[in-house]
Amino acid sequence: MCGVIGIYGNDDVVYEIYEGLIALQHRGQDSAGIITYDEMFHLKKGMGLVNNVFKEKNIIRLKGKMGIGHVRYPTIGFGSIEDAQPFYINYPFGIAMAHNGNVTNYYQLREILEKKFYRKLTSYSDVEVILNIFGVALEKYLNKKNLFSSLVSATREVFKWVKGSYSVVGIIADYGIFAFRDPYGIKPLGFGKKNDNYAFASESVAFDMLDYRFVRDVYPGELIFIDKDKKVYSKRLRKQKHTYPCIFEYVYFARPDSVIDGIGVYEARLRLGEELGKECLKEDIKPDVIIPVPDTARAAAFSVSKILKVDCKEGLIKNRYIPRTFIMPTQREREIKVRQKLNPIKSEIENKKILVVDDSIVRGTTSREIVALLKKAKAKEVYLAITCPPLRFPCVYGIDMMTRGEFIAKKYSIKKIQEIIGADKLIYQTIEGLIKAVGGEKRNNFCTACFTGIYPTKIKKEEIEKLEKERIKTKNYFIKGGEDEGV
Ligand code: SF4
Repeated sequence: MCGVIGIYGNDDVVYEIYEGLIALQHRGQDSAGIITYDEMFHLKKGMGLVNNVFKEKNIIRLKGKMGIGHVRYPTIGFGSIEDAQPFYINYPFGIAMAHNGNVTNYYQLREILEKKFYRKLTSYSDVEVILNIFGVALEKYLNKKNLFSSLVSATREVFKWVKGSYSVVGIIADYGIFAFRDPYGIKPLGFGKKNDNYAFASESVAFDMLDYRFVRDVYPGELIFIDKDKKVYSKRLRKQKHTYPCIFEYVYFARPDSVIDGIGVYEARLRLGEELGKECLKEDIKPDVIIPVPDTARAAAFSVSKILKVDCKEGLIKNRYIPRTFIMPTQREREIKVRQKLNPIKSEIENKKILVVDDSIVRGTTSREIVALLKKAKAKEVYLAITCPPLRFPCVYGIDMMTRGEFIAKKYSIKKIQEIIGADKLIYQTIEGLIKAVGGEKRNNFCTACFTGIYPTKIKKEEIEKLEKERIKTKNYFIKGGEDEGV
């Protein structure tokens, strides 16, 4: 999961891109980067949070009316500064690019680029592969009199060659900015406007922050190009019968104040609570109080409380200055951070039967720590209700749970997980409840691969295994980049 933003404005856009990245910070805290263009590209990227990477002196240097920005957490690659986005190539035109997603045939494409097109890459970031394929194709189909048709052909080539998920933003030096979304629409990407300024961003919340009007989502398989005169071109190059937005965006990743593919994330979370509440009613539990794990489970906990007619209270307080645990790279770091992150309000816990609502269980680390915290605070019983079904299959589309060895639910039954995490009852959402809750009246097709093992891009078993192996390898060699200043 990453966050991207691209803006074509009337003045230096770096300030808006910076603010937009702050709004998208929850999508990745590992590195951040901005590239702008006036008569040349100006790039700054580094490890860490947006406000750590960009100082006054960098911002002043990043001149230009066109720019793109990126926040990352690593999926493919080593998580080093070399893999931080955006990337650019000098020819044709000069193209800069950033993306959110994960290329599932990355190693194969890298080899083709090196052996067939003699393109040596500078990183293990998958966007560099997309960028070079796009560059090779743009050179092949170049028609300066009709640049949009050349971009259409280049994007078609990307769709033909690149498998997986990718929501891309880019700059064509001197000519404009563009965005495209993979044909299955797995990762979100929105399109916004303010006067005659245009923007693309991973989540609508970035438009809200910048006072842009959210025009619409970029359609799956669509290319949008804003030329140097701010004329908007768009074409849907591939129209699949069904598209498959990532359902986990609504459960966990996206901010609750975002709207993705026409569905409000907050409303989806309220409905997730309604469905989960129905599951809780089937169980023999009588909680005294319902407590959400902040922040993602709060909306669902309100709905569970309504269904069960039990008060919902804040019983766990989050230290806001500790990064999200799920996207921390190593298990050890995750364990330490859970303890630093949450603290119980003892008066709400002592001698009570607590129903804790949380969004998901990946490795079980957080759940085990939370149950232990509550028991230490003298809870009589602790039940745990989860707003999504058991996670069992690796996500190959850009969420850092690429190896199934990481999933507690892959190895153990629900009863056994309950025992491991020390809860008195563990209740999961059903897959039907998940789809019904998120889709509401609007849609019932999503990517649910991490729950069901059904991958929308029809990836082969051997390819998943290869990706898992590579992921383990890169994780083992994970380079901590804290001291690296960036470029
Ligand atoms: S596998 Fe899961 S996390 Fe990955 S894109 Fe699909 S729904 Fe989202």
